[in-house]
Amino acid sequence: MSDNIKEECGIFGIYDKSNIGNIANQVYFGLFALQHRGQEAAGIAVNRDREITLVKNLGLVSEVFNDNNLAHLQGEIAIGHVRYSTTGNNTPENAQPISVKYAKGNLTVSHNGNITNAKELREKLESRGAIFHTTSDSEVVSYLIANQRLKSKSIEEAVEKVFPMLQGAFSLLIMSPRKLIAVRDRFGIRPLCMGKLKDNVIFASESCAFETIGADFERDVLPGEIVIVNENETISNKKYCSNRSGLCIFEHIYTARPDSVIDGQSVNEARMNAGKMLAKKAPVDADVVIGVPDSGLPAAIGYSHESGIPYGVGLIKNRYIGRTFIQPTQAMRERSVALKLNTLKSNVEGKRIVMVDDSIVRGTTLANIIKLLKKSGAKEVHVRISSPPFIYPCFFGTDIPSRKDLACNNYTMEELRIKIGADSLVFMDTATIDQIAPDSTVKFCKGCFTGKYPCRVPGEHDDKNILE
Ligand code: SF4
Repeated sequence: MSDNIKEECGIFGIYDKSNIGNIANQVYFGLFALQHRGQEAAGIAVNRDREITLVKNLGLVSEVFNDNNLAHLQGEIAIGHVRYSTTGNNTPENAQPISVKYAKGNLTVSHNGNITNAKELREKLESRGAIFHTTSDSEVVSYLIANQRLKSKSIEEAVEKVFPMLQGAFSLLIMSPRKLIAVRDRFGIRPLCMGKLKDNVIFASESCAFETIGADFERDVLPGEIVIVNENETISNKKYCSNRSGLCIFEHIYTARPDSVIDGQSVNEARMNAGKMLAKKAPVDADVVIGVPDSGLPAAIGYSHESGIPYGVGLIKNRYIGRTFIQPTQAMRERSVALKLNTLKSNVEGKRIVMVDDSIVRGTTLANIIKLLKKSGAKEVHVRISSPPFIYPCFFGTDIPSRKDLACNNYTMEELRIKIGADSLVFMDTATIDQIAPDSTVKFCKGCFTGKYPCRVPGEHDDKNILE
């Protein structure tokens, strides 16, 4: 229930070596498990005897696919995508996977992340005569790989050549007529992991997608790694791996599903740890701890465990508000939070409440939630936020508004507390936020909290904003 932050994208792919069949159904259920990462569009592309069949459209996975179109998606290799657009418009053409036909056959790409130099790459290619059909940076990636493939012995050689041309965040699945290739940018900004179902090799943005189809998690794709799967073997190319990394810490705070494990760290435990740290940092006398659904819930449980204050359900979310949510009238818009959330009056009436949420963007949603709680009889509402204050933009695929719209840039802490109507307000510390993920095998990007990013960002021509 973060204040209007949107997720990015989810990707899923299978090489069906066991001839389990029904490959499209498996991708469908994999994407279904990743639906939280993007609800604007969905697509599946299947490769059968070098012919690509692609179905994609705007909508949720369950809206885009049905028994009929899934039945036509038969083959040996398949990749899928769920989309939230942070670059490119929300049009059917920009839905992914993106498939291109060129002199060497077909090439299909699913992408999670933002290529920060996509504009320059596109302009350069256009000046050489390239024609693009979409405004998505993923088409630029497809074009570059197809172009390099014409000068390379294999698709993996082409991918290796394109890798250093790309800046920013990219977890990619690339399907050629006979291979499935997974790529993670050199900082591993977006997650990508590998699983197994019999002899089938599977890739997914998050491990929660494996369990959905009965597959086992095998390992994370390393930051900088290229994994090539062909009919006979799986090959790892670590040419671009280094000891630098920068996974988006917001994956642990908000984006990923709590039942996922990313680079060794359970997301649920990271959220619980955040709650525990908040309880140590900002204790308060209260009767109950509640969380703002969904990502605030594990953090609220963590706060409760550490503080000894009982955990309770204070807010009920309407789970059936989808993307096609009918725009409310002006009068109703003011009550739009009430359409999504309601209070459980018996749990909040007369109580001093600690309420844990994942972040504050503009502050309007939180202000409305506190209003609802007080209307239901809450005596006090103490707000604890499981992320540090948002101060800077994100260039890597999380839709954080511009700096002028971020509440923490416009108000002092005390002004913000008064604006949202809280009795107290405390955020996680920027310096210690990494401690929520002690099991993580990678380091973190915290750019939206610190202004220091793992790699150069648009408009910056020196390294002053780069993490050491
Ligand atoms: S800037 Fe923030 S939201 Fe963007 S990748 Fe870094 S930590 Fe994640």
